[in-house]
Amino acid sequence: MADWSGLTQRLESSDAGRLELPLAEIEQLIGDRLPPSSQYPAFWSNSSTYAKAWKLAGYESTRRGVPKGYMGFVRMRTPTAASATAGPTPGPAQNDPATGDVVLIGCVKTKAPEASPARDLYRSPLFQRRRRYAESTGRPWYILSAEHGLLDPDSLIEPYDVYLADQSADYRQAWGGWVVAKLTQVRESIDGLVIEVHAGAAYVDAIDEPLRRHGAVLRTPLAGLGMGEQLSWYDRPGEETGQQERSIPPVPSGEQPLEDLVILDGPHETEPFTFRWPTGTEDFDCGWDLTVDVAGRRHRVRHGLGMRQVYGSRRRHSVTFVDDWAAAEGVAPDDYETSRCLISPLKDHAGRLIRPGEQVPSSYVGFPLVSHAEQIVAPYSRNGLAVRLHEDDITSWVGYALARLAVRRAGVTGPGQVPPAPPRPTGPRAPAPPSAVVRALLDYGQAQAPAVVGQVTFTPHPEANALIMGNPFAFLLAVIFDQGIPAERAWRAPYDLMRRLGHLDPACMLADPEGVRAAVAQPPVLHRFRERMPDWLVAAARILVHEYGGEAARIWNDHPTARQLQQRLDRFPGIGQKKAAMAVEILDRDLGVSIRELEGSDIAYDVHVRRVFLRTGLAEYDDLDHMVDVARRAYPERPGAIDMPAWLIGRQWCHAGFPDCPACVLRDVCPQDIDRANAVRGA
Ligand code: SF4
Repeated sequence: MADWSGLTQRLESSDAGRLELPLAEIEQLIGDRLPPSSQYPAFWSNSSTYAKAWKLAGYESTRRGVPKGYMGFVRMRTPTAASATAGPTPGPAQNDPATGDVVLIGCVKTKAPEASPARDLYRSPLFQRRRRYAESTGRPWYILSAEHGLLDPDSLIEPYDVYLADQSADYRQAWGGWVVAKLTQVRESIDGLVIEVHAGAAYVDAIDEPLRRHGAVLRTPLAGLGMGEQLSWYDRPGEETGQQERSIPPVPSGEQPLEDLVILDGPHETEPFTFRWPTGTEDFDCGWDLTVDVAGRRHRVRHGLGMRQVYGSRRRHSVTFVDDWAAAEGVAPDDYETSRCLISPLKDHAGRLIRPGEQVPSSYVGFPLVSHAEQIVAPYSRNGLAVRLHEDDITSWVGYALARLAVRRAGVTGPGQVPPAPPRPTGPRAPAPPSAVVRALLDYGQAQAPAVVGQVTFTPHPEANALIMGNPFAFLLAVIFDQGIPAERAWRAPYDLMRRLGHLDPACMLADPEGVRAAVAQPPVLHRFRERMPDWLVAAARILVHEYGGEAARIWNDHPTARQLQQRLDRFPGIGQKKAAMAVEILDRDLGVSIRELEGSDIAYDVHVRRVFLRTGLAEYDDLDHMVDVARRAYPERPGAIDMPAWLIGRQWCHAGFPDCPACVLRDVCPQDIDRANAVRGA
């Protein structure tokens, strides 16, 4: 019987970003012949029952460009904790403070008074620490909202007053399933992932069972701690409670801090101390404290020396803290007993190991570089460059720690900054021809389309979904609602409106505009446009009553052309080009409405679509007519078909702040021109 753990181990022991393994080798690894079904793509898909074998090792399968008789695997992330425990204890390079593949943090009651990006909406000290921690892990992170379920930190959110612990058991159960369904959608699959949750018990309890059902491992490092203990858990040693929210210490990015380094005080030898990582504590038997100045800024630095079980043996281990940030770690190479040196893997701004032959950021210039794998000959030794310094060369360790921070800061969005494009695997990448991007978009769109027309999910709320599918007026209202709030909330709004009004009748709405206004404004408000939205809804009712006999289906049931239908929808207040184009696509693709001449359909000029068009090089500049024209030329048979996949990719990976290029389905064809989306509002 096949044992797929052999493939997992083979991938885990590789540092390659991409591997192509002969099928014969895979058969050797699993100790059996591959089954006949392995000739079909579904067998190797990342959602197949065998996918755990490569996902546990942090890889995804790919057939793109893979020769016949081989299977390709592309590294997506570091291996899960579950897989890491199968081998020797990972080294410091793998042993980042956060162990979850994804970090979820709970919302809190204290909120900003106005609509804000979710990361800024919640204002309590606890939330600030949770956010700071989540950001520091470098892992994907999301907010658990009692009202909105799973929130992208960049989503624009109105303040609300829903507290999960106050809700009924049924609500909490449905909420947990909704959150996990959304997480599964956002990450494609959570099977085998470690989900690290920093939230109250009501949140954890609600998602525990659905997470397990989807094969994820729940980790709650703060479970059982009181409020004070939680706050101090997040605070590094020496950090004052209530200290302003910090990000990476303000080392000048892209500089060589060592050149400007002035030691103001120290080094003073410290007493042995203990540091509390999120995953446990570490003892340091000695250390040094210093105060340094770099380009006019003071930093507190501590360099500590301890021991750690790593690379198959107990080795000397150092951590250099800058302003309480664990900025650099060192570990003993094989010749430590005679050299007393430590080595530290060299990483780029995104935390990726820098390989021999790759460009080394200027901040590292001047530090002695060695091959990690040659210095430590052991399983899991890293195939990359490392800095080698004497363990008590404090000045060099401080300079190196500052250089690490400078490199990291160069990749972090600050006010008015946009992160640079993620590094490419092998030197600068020439833009792929636009047709490759369009092809990939269309393939993705096809893969995401519901298998059966009429089985689309607009919102996780089943009754709201059913209403949209069965009531054309509800569909029209949802299109109007779908602006400035999360789509899931917009598509649920007609259902909530109907419950509040007691009907969803255009004639009755037209007769009672104040009733509509009150229903929209009733807490929790249905839409943040409290004034405009009721006006738009009543105006829609008016057009329907006067021009379509009160029946929304009459807008499209005479087999209009795509262009005619778009123009009809465009007439409704609150529906512009973007939403009209989107509605045409949904009516045809998902609801089976008969629409002629789909070559007349268009993309919706939406913030996600625009960002993807610019970064993929499809569009040269951000302009409605230009982008619509680009789509018409790129896929004249049906330009609107490019819209949905671009929108999904924009929401899922091509984020405004940090695009998740390694995970994006366009990664192989996209030139990843991140800066081109600078001017896109919301980008
Ligand atoms: S996430 Fe990266 S790869 Fe994907 S579309 Fe955006 S820039 Fe391109």
